[in-house]
Amino acid sequence: MGDSFDLIVLGGGAAGLFCAARAGRRGRRVVLLERNREVGRKILISGGGRCNFTNIHCRPEHFLSNNPHFARSALARYTPADFISLVERHGVAWHEKTLGQLFCDGSARQIVDLLLAECRDGGVRIEVDCDVTAPPPARPPFVVETSRGRFEALSLVVATGGLSIPKIGATDLGYRIAAQFGVPVVPPRPALVPLLFDEAGRRRWSELAGVAADCVASASGASFREQLLFTHRGLSGPAILQASSYWHDGGTVEIDLLPDVDILAELTSRRAAGETAAPKTIVARHLPNRLADRWFDDDVGGVLATTSNERLAAIADRLHRWSVVPSGTEGYTKAEVTAGGVDTRALSSRTMEAREVPGLYFIGEVVDVTGHLGGFNFQWAWASAAAAADAV
Ligand SMILES: Cc1cc2nc3c(=O)[nH]c(=O)nc-3n(C[C@H](O)[C@H](O)[C@H](O)COP(=O)(O)OP(=O)(O)OC[C@H]3O[C@@H](n4cnc5c(N)ncnc54)[C@H](O)[C@@H]3O)c2cc1C
Repeated sequence: MGDSFDLIVLGGGAAGLFCAARAGRRGRRVVLLERNREVGRKILISGGGRCNFTNIHCRPEHFLSNNPHFARSALARYTPADFISLVERHGVAWHEKTLGQLFCDGSARQIVDLLLAECRDGGVRIEVDCDVTAPPPARPPFVVETSRGRFEALSLVVATGGLSIPKIGATDLGYRIAAQFGVPVVPPRPALVPLLFDEAGRRRWSELAGVAADCVASASGASFREQLLFTHRGLSGPAILQASSYWHDGGTVEIDLLPDVDILAELTSRRAAGETAAPKTIVARHLPNRLADRWFDDDVGGVLATTSNERLAAIADRLHRWSVVPSGTEGYTKAEVTAGGVDTRALSSRTMEAREVPGLYFIGEVVDVTGHLGGFNFQWAWASAAAAADAV
């Protein structure tokens, strides 16, 4: 006979730890099962080691999902201010970087320690190094067989995350459990991920690896004003990572390399003023040098005075609307998150419980709710975890 609990939480990441702690503090007997040797490995590498743990501008518009309204309820009931007050109660110093992104002053370890302290307060039993096999699709009690024995509970919270970064423990267990219980899954795909140039693009741009530029990157109607970064194989940087979440195979990413400059107006007025420089020289004042050189390297040149209106318009149009058709993404090994996941139509937006399977909950990244870059994914982890913890 195995140990019996009120709640089994599968996965010791942000969502699982927070849910286990909160349910434990409500008096539930909770066990958390994690396959890694330590919990919270992704938290430790997040935000460049400082964990961008929330975003003060968090709104439902910062999330992608087949059902854009699903996240509203949970996000409204557990807000960034709630998590900030928890962080402050634990004496963790923090700062705002840009765009409402909050980071630890010290290290991401402080967030893991905070979650572990909360789990201790809630009397949560944590089993690490614990390989889990999917439970049989029986109604409660749920029985979970693991390398550390057999666990039983009336409620099961699946917080096993997405497929990103397999080397630190990602598995498809959550999707398999969903399938076993007849809960639909929106096909997962890498998101917040660098994009790849096709062969010709690589030949043309790979020597710019390391060059960054301010831009607006757009895909499927969503636009992001941040930096892009050339890599050896394609494009990255925050603007591209954000756009990648909206990009689908075969689609175009449109990039405005001069978002603050009306370059056509500038070229035309300088020509009218009799300036003798080449258009390239004027454009180069607004771009990183290496990018400007490469951008115009197939240009025969010519001075402004002899450049036609059509030619100036074409130069400006290409700079404001550089169309890139990526050949793919860097995949799950580089993707910060996984888009898609457990279909929200099958879940209660108040509690995260599967509508057809009482006692079965899905929280965090395993659900088809994906945040923009900037602390939104952790805020979803906290909010969805709180929703489930308050219901079990
Ligand atoms: C490099 C990087 C940096 C990031 N930085 C930020 C940031 O600064 N801000 C932000 O908001 N978001 C950031 N993210 C995204 C954020 O980390 C995730 O969205 C968030 O951690 C998801 O939490 P989760 O608990 O749902 O899943 P996870 O954190 O992925 O946790 C899932 C847990 O389940 C365990 N597990 C999986 N399968 C099994 C199994 N079969 N048996 C037992 N356990 C299992 C895993 O080992 C893991 O510990 C970053 C992501 C990456 C990869």
